[in-house]
Amino acid sequence: MTERVLVIGSGIAGMCSALALAHKGFDVTVVERDTPPPEGDADKAFFEWPRRGASQFRHPHAFLGLMCNLLQDNYPDLLEEFYAAGARRLDFQEMLSPELTDKYRPAPGDDKLWVLLCRRATIETVLRRYVGRLNNITIRNGVTIDGLVTERDDQGLVVKGVKLRRDCVDEHGPEILADVIVDASGRTTKFPRWLAELGETVEEENDDAEIVYYTRHYKLKPGVEEPPRTGKDRAAGDLGYIKFGVFPGDNGNFALIVCVHNDEHELRQAITDGATFDAVCRSIPGLEPWVREDAAEATTEPFGIGDIRAVWRYFVQDGRPLARNFFAVGDAALRTNPLYGRGCSTGILHAHMLAEVLAGDADPVARALAFDRRTRDELRPIFETSRTEDKNGIRRAKAAAAGELLEKPDTFKKRFGLAFGDALAAAARYNLHVLRGMSRTMNLLEKPGAFLEDRKTRWIIFAYMLRGRARNAKARIVRGPSRSEMLELVNQRSADAA
Ligand SMILES: Cc1cc2nc3c(=O)[nH]c(=O)nc-3n(C[C@H](O)[C@H](O)[C@H](O)COP(=O)(O)OP(=O)(O)OC[C@H]3O[C@@H](n4cnc5c(N)ncnc54)[C@H](O)[C@@H]3O)c2cc1C
Repeated sequence: MTERVLVIGSGIAGMCSALALAHKGFDVTVVERDTPPPEGDADKAFFEWPRRGASQFRHPHAFLGLMCNLLQDNYPDLLEEFYAAGARRLDFQEMLSPELTDKYRPAPGDDKLWVLLCRRATIETVLRRYVGRLNNITIRNGVTIDGLVTERDDQGLVVKGVKLRRDCVDEHGPEILADVIVDASGRTTKFPRWLAELGETVEEENDDAEIVYYTRHYKLKPGVEEPPRTGKDRAAGDLGYIKFGVFPGDNGNFALIVCVHNDEHELRQAITDGATFDAVCRSIPGLEPWVREDAAEATTEPFGIGDIRAVWRYFVQDGRPLARNFFAVGDAALRTNPLYGRGCSTGILHAHMLAEVLAGDADPVARALAFDRRTRDELRPIFETSRTEDKNGIRRAKAAAAGELLEKPDTFKKRFGLAFGDALAAAARYNLHVLRGMSRTMNLLEKPGAFLEDRKTRWIIFAYMLRGRARNAKARIVRGPSRSEMLELVNQRSADAA
């Protein structure tokens, strides 16, 4: 008999789980608390779809190589639908700095180094419609899940289904039963709480990245070309107290993001005002061409999202699954800081792992252990790298707020580390071989930092170290106002407005 799989949540990981499971022959039902996308194009979805279940829906998303290649290899027709809706493919060659453009010669693997540019609303709408057309997938919208249906036997807890919130009960009844339950309900999942109430505590690592993420969307004015992103002043960078970036989207839309440490109260308050957000962006050379008055106009006010965390949940403990026939994918299982743009890629990879594990073994315990093993092998290194980057980001922000140098080169180890970092930054800017390696890591196409094990890469970085720090450090310089200059700028604006 075909197994029935119930997926809770129709976000990125939920939809991709449904797709991957349906391709393996499972009978899939997806339940989603929100309404389906409205009829119409990407703009209609972006501006009008009430998407309260995914609070990050209107924040810009980067879709990295890992996700893009999984889509291309498994659902090329879906990719065509993304393009038809306005999504664009950006290849490695198009991401090169002016210094490398002329030196570029195609190399094996370059075809994997690409990203998709478009709004999340575009991806979700197209994905939802595509999935909705498949025969062995049913989507039930407007249904909020509010608990688990379980049994307990001598081996522990078995999940049999889910309970609907009282006001969502329809002609199908108050519960949905299935052979396998997949939690794809995202960053606010309540499944760990329900499992704890049943005596199975999901242990977790949970680290605050201590940032607030602010976004404003814009549209290029008619006839205006997108400014270059790879010139002397990059369109993304870190000034210590502020991190910034441009996310080019579909159909002439783009978004700017500004991330600040939780404790930067003055700055946080100021940039919720549209004109101040623009002024902040204009003061950063990498963003300035995008916010010139003759280049683009804002299509939203600035808006923010906090509670940015690195979270890892343990559903198998001491070699035993906490609940049989229950699996968590995507943000419900692990979260990384959105600044790195990894969540959708890890979510789709996780979804594919789940489908392979379920198709490969029918035993519930063996499935849980295999899924746990693959999750740890393939996603844990990404999680750990992200968490380390968060900790470094927090240290940078705190040092900037205190007006201190982040690293005092007072020991040989520290001096070597700084020299290595500068040499790597310079090599990645001016050397194609190193840049390729770094791009593989950034696009999650290899274990983080695996390119540094390559002998040629090491020699190149070593050669750069011999040039000296002063020369290499230039590659790391991100131009922009100091923290005190930025505070002066926003204070001056509030004084003028008062
Ligand atoms: C500000 C921000 C920016 C980001 N930028 C990027 C980026 O650039 N690139 C990237 O790859 N990732 C990014 N991410 C991460 C990415 O959004 C998530 O990793 C991804 O959406 C996870 O997918 P998911 O399906 O697990 O969860 P979600 O996409 O959040 O979907 C969860 C779904 O479950 C539904 N749901 C929740 N509870 C219930 C319930 N009880 N009953 C029924 N349905 C329910 C919700 O309505 C929602 O549809 C960003 C995240 C944030 C916060």
